[in-house]
Amino acid sequence: MKLIRAQHLGQCFGVRDAIALARAVAAQRPVTVLGELVHNETVLSDLRSRGVRLERDLAKAMTETVVLTAHGTSERRRAEVSARGHQIVDATCPLVRVAHQALAELVRQGLHPVVIGQRGHVEVCGLTEDFPGCDIVLSEADVARLTPRSRFGVVSQTTQPLTRVHELLARLRQRFPNSDVVFRNTVCQPTQQRQTAAEQLAHRCDVVVVIGGAHSNNTRELVNTSGYFCDRVYHIQNATDLDPRWFLPDDTIGLTAGTSTPDEVIQAVERRLQKWCDVPEHVDEACVQLHTAAA
Ligand code: SF4
Repeated sequence: MKLIRAQHLGQCFGVRDAIALARAVAAQRPVTVLGELVHNETVLSDLRSRGVRLERDLAKAMTETVVLTAHGTSERRRAEVSARGHQIVDATCPLVRVAHQALAELVRQGLHPVVIGQRGHVEVCGLTEDFPGCDIVLSEADVARLTPRSRFGVVSQTTQPLTRVHELLARLRQRFPNSDVVFRNTVCQPTQQRQTAAEQLAHRCDVVVVIGGAHSNNTRELVNTSGYFCDRVYHIQNATDLDPRWFLPDDTIGLTAGTSTPDEVIQAVERRLQKWCDVPEHVDEACVQLHTAAA
């Protein structure tokens, strides 16, 4: 077996900075993070062990200092936090801020706001909450349901694959040929790099392993993208999820990871896979067991 790493994988600067900020604040005073700082259980456990409290519900935040997550927050929500007397530490990624500014500017220009993204995802909630009536689309069916408008202003959730964004944009323009459709590309560069690298990787591999949190949107998108080009794709959260029965002795295995996956988790997965590559008999044995069980 052979192991190949994606050219771009794992934590982005936005996630690294948010974690560093939360750790630094926790070292000085009691702090509550409002929601999941990043969608990765390893990172969240580490923060808990440093005394950081994690609360989705603002009413349950008992510390004076509250951290807003890298996914960004609406102005409405921010005002609620301040009104309760909390001191805000803002860990919003600068590239999420760019998406907020782009949408606000389109609305200021009188366009009807549309976000290409996943309804209910924390970043999309943060983007849309300040604009009542804002539409959220993620499929052609969603576009088909839109009310006709003379002018649409469109941005994207930062972690959407660019190909999907362009497909939906084309569909929107096709459905409303007489409308003015203005698009601001707010897919972040780290997401684009990881998506492109995952596609290249999947083309070359028999099996792809994607490491990332169960609730991580960008990890799920890496799984989807890899699945277009490779039949065997496994989404794991850490090295203990790996199963040798997934691999055959002649396989080329590709490895990629979402933007919230810590380096040490990637390294642990890589070490385990490398061991199996060096000693393929281990995998042979597991495959024999699998095929015997299946027979
Ligand atoms: S995925 Fe992109 S937008 Fe999200 S934290 Fe990372 S760099 Fe920022």
